[in-house]
Amino acid sequence: VRDVEDGRETDIQAGVVVNCTGVWTDELQRLSGSRGRFRVRASKGVHVVVPRDRIVAETGVILRTEKSVLFVIPWRNHWIVGTTDTDWNLDLAHPAATRNDIDYILGHVNKVLATPLTHDDIEGVYAGLRPLLAGESEETSKLSREHAVARVAPGLVAIAGGKYTTYRVMARDAVDAAVVDLPGRPPSSITDKVPLLGADGYHALVNQADHLAMQHGLHPYRVRHLLDRYGSLVHEVLQAAEGRPELLRPLEHAPDYLAAEAVYAASHEGALHLEDVLARRTRISIEYPHRGVACAEQVARLMGEVLGWSDPMITREVDVYTARVEAERDSQAQPSDEAADARRSSAPEARARLIEPVG
Ligand SMILES: Cc1cc2nc3c(=O)[nH]c(=O)nc-3n(C[C@H](O)[C@H](O)[C@H](O)COP(=O)(O)OP(=O)(O)OC[C@H]3O[C@@H](n4cnc5c(N)ncnc54)[C@H](O)[C@@H]3O)c2cc1C
Repeated sequence: VRDVEDGRETDIQAGVVVNCTGVWTDELQRLSGSRGRFRVRASKGVHVVVPRDRIVAETGVILRTEKSVLFVIPWRNHWIVGTTDTDWNLDLAHPAATRNDIDYILGHVNKVLATPLTHDDIEGVYAGLRPLLAGESEETSKLSREHAVARVAPGLVAIAGGKYTTYRVMARDAVDAAVVDLPGRPPSSITDKVPLLGADGYHALVNQADHLAMQHGLHPYRVRHLLDRYGSLVHEVLQAAEGRPELLRPLEHAPDYLAAEAVYAASHEGALHLEDVLARRTRISIEYPHRGVACAEQVARLMGEVLGWSDPMITREVDVYTARVEAERDSQAQPSDEAADARRSSAPEARARLIEPVG
């Protein structure tokens, strides 16, 4: 195993390994030297984000397309519109949206809008890869219609397919298959009784949102936003700002978020690079037309306090993030997957060792 942060390699002994690597399933399977029981193909899905006032509607919309459906989903101050569904055989780490993908989405949604959306309305674009099962054997697909689990070899279990919405069932099935190779008889899964982090006490806090807001000198709207994001873990986020009222101020160029949220992402949520906060722990990269670039320096300084970054490290993080956004913007102007991939892959990587194979 290699730590992609510092390049250190470590041998790990385990009774069983679970290959749950999504679109990398086949690659990991090859490394094991055994033949897989199913294959996974990557299907690219692109969404665009537009401001809430660009579409006058009270509810989400589901549209039929020639291949599938297109969703128009209300999300905070925005609409999310998508998605596409096309095979992707290029860089698995960086699926790139193209001009054609965006035109396809706009073309479909504009058929039902009184005021059509244009490229200028777009605040953000994101692309992901669905790990779809390809060529599964009857035996594996029998295990579940949603996903497939297989004990590929003694000590190696693979799981793929499935959905976000079925992740607990996927995890239960994978662990049930894995424990066959472990000593003893572990008790059966209790995942259906384990609440999400932040769920415990959430409803009581929603009732107390006004009180909480008063206690911390925040607007109740802000506290409700924090509760939506963190549930009852909101106390940990607010604790990060104890004695530092400046952390309860909004980020200058991304005012939906407090400065404390960037600090919390680094101290409690495992964020190690600027892109972890701007594109993953928050969605600033798709919520603001500047795509995070305008607040990159402020967020990097806040993260740097926790992670001990020097000025040159802060500059490097900002530069790498800015180059990523430029590459994404350029790739979204390209007509083909190949051209978009070439431009996106040319951007520097925050985790440079990610792409080198383990020796
Ligand atoms: C555009 C789009 C829309 C979707 N919409 C929906 C929806 O509306 N509802 C729904 O339920 N599902 C939806 N999905 C599907 C859902 O995202 C996937 O089915 C789900 O994420 C699969 O989970 P997984 O854990 O199998 O794989 P993944 O979520 O892909 O996780 C695999 C993980 O393995 C890691 N990894 C890979 N190789 C290594 C390695 N060598 N070492 C360490 N880690 C490694 C990867 O970094 C990744 O984090 C959508 C997917 C896309 C792309």
